Amino acid sequence: MTLRTVAGRRIGETAEDLQAWLRQLDGCPSISRTVLASCPSEQHGDEPATWFYVEADAAESIARRRCLSCGQTSDVLDSAEHWNYPRMWSCSGCGQSIAEVAAGLHLEDSDDVTWVALAARCVECGSIEGLTDFNVDPIDSEAIADKL
Ligand SMILES: [Zn+2]
Ligand SMILES: [Zn+2]
Repeated sequence: MTLRTVAGRRIGETAEDLQAWLRQLDGCPSISRTVLASCPSEQHGDEPATWFYVEADAAESIARRRCLSCGQTSDVLDSAEHWNYPRMWSCSGCGQSIAEVAAGLHLEDSDDVTWVALAARCVECGSIEGLTDFNVDPIDSEAIADKL
């Protein structure tokens, strides 16, 4: 793990650092599993596309990703049902808007997910930032992967 802090910002060098950051979050439900977002479009074949433009609203618990490579959008969980056209995310460190995105899952003892945290890592400078979080009706951790 190569997480480090530069002038108060969290910097991660890889997508794994982003997921490690989610797992160590304090002051929220514990995160025991993480999922790195990749574009579901079949055109990427064996090379998953993991760079996105992200729109998210932390107050409304909504987020949407647009694949940098193919342009396909993915609504996170039920975000489309109460979409409010939030601004596109841009890095607080360097200002650009392309990010890797990962979800941290809080599992109840039955192995059901009840809470999800979404975070982004700037692919330019490595800055890691939380995007939003979601309370969800208990759902199997395999089943939720398609909705992230
Ligand atoms: Zn794509
Ligand atoms: Zn940046």
